[in-house]
Amino acid sequence: ARPHAATETATATAADSADACCTGPLPVLGRDVTVPLVTGGEVSYAALDYAASAPALQRVWDDVAAYAPYYGSVHRGAGYLSQLSTDLFEQSRATVAEFLGCREDDQVVFTRSTTDSLNLLAQVVPADCQVFVFETEHHASLLPWRDAQVTYLNAPRTPAQAVDTLERALADRDPHGPALVCVTGASNVTGELWPVRELAAAAHAHGARIVLDAAQLAPHHPVSVEELDVDWVAFSGHKLYAPFGSGVLAGRADWLQAAEPYLAGGGASRTVARRADGGVDVEWHTTAARHEAGSPNVIGVYSIASACKALTEAGFDTLVAREQHLIDTVRAGLAEVPEVRVLSLFGDDAPRVGVISFVVDGWNSSHFAAALSAEYGIGVRDGLFCAHPLVRTLLGSDAQDPGECGAPEPAAPGERSLNAIRVSFGAG
Ligand code: PLP
Repeated sequence: ARPHAATETATATAADSADACCTGPLPVLGRDVTVPLVTGGEVSYAALDYAASAPALQRVWDDVAAYAPYYGSVHRGAGYLSQLSTDLFEQSRATVAEFLGCREDDQVVFTRSTTDSLNLLAQVVPADCQVFVFETEHHASLLPWRDAQVTYLNAPRTPAQAVDTLERALADRDPHGPALVCVTGASNVTGELWPVRELAAAAHAHGARIVLDAAQLAPHHPVSVEELDVDWVAFSGHKLYAPFGSGVLAGRADWLQAAEPYLAGGGASRTVARRADGGVDVEWHTTAARHEAGSPNVIGVYSIASACKALTEAGFDTLVAREQHLIDTVRAGLAEVPEVRVLSLFGDDAPRVGVISFVVDGWNSSHFAAALSAEYGIGVRDGLFCAHPLVRTLLGSDAQDPGECGAPEPAAPGERSLNAIRVSFGAG
């Protein structure tokens, strides 16, 4: 079915913005891809799903291509390729530490993704640690914690309410044991920025630590561990214009080094020796390597460092200003369509990144998203975006994820939709 006239306005706006966002200060691969349409012919593809995975920067492809012939195993050999790869791997660690504004004694651990980073942290928190997490989080931040230790906080409706909710919860906790707050920097559903600095201050005032899920923040805004005063930060390369399957967990070394390695194996162990009783004694590394057992993803790590450098060189002031223009343009276009309702927790004026979710009354979001792809070559996301409790708060408790529960029946004209559409983009 072809979207009706009113939705075509939204579609055109999104398409225009896609073109605009692809002429940003950093060339993005994927811009010139053409895709076939069901209506015949081909069209230039508009990738508007950066929040899921952003297209790679040309600079990242170029750096990876230049390195690829020299690929070798790290920390393992005296050969030239191994030495070169080890250098690039460790230089990448330093680049990421600088990009994140880490403290001198912080450690940067390379992981597979934000999900992997937060699961790693969940594994190293002290056994008696109480964890506080808002129900509005992405499932990667919501689910890794052990049931007995986690307190889920209700969705706040303003940033100030978020801080207040956290303060009350922390004030009620047993003040003697360790505690950790896990919070997103920018929502993957509404794009809204969370008051990270204030939440960190509240956490620390109550003797708790805080980890920042920067999966959606880091590609759009500068993140400084030191300035925000967070204890850890996690992000994914593939959302920061650096595909190839790497992520980062950076922050305080003490809990990381007090715990057993996330994975046991070569690279994490310093020495391994048979004991007289037949067993094995292991001395684990006390550096980031402790949690990086196995041959690491050198290309993924190198691509993250390349993207960090590219974004820094482009300048976040420029990137943020450009992205704000795109956000304003898309939101203004959506506001002209009466059937469109943009989802928001903190309200229209809340600062946000280029992640905008909406429903089109009378339209099943999955069908709408499929039509955007098949008829216009515009790639968006539909569903509940791995943040089911948040989207149910915004849409109604009967909201369903088509990916996990099967597509809901098409809504009748005028009826509200049971899942949402998300457009997301960045100035990169
Ligand atoms: N946190 C947020 C806010 C996200 O948007 C996502 C992915 O969409 C994740 C965590 C998980 O990232 P990954 O799938 O790269 O592990």
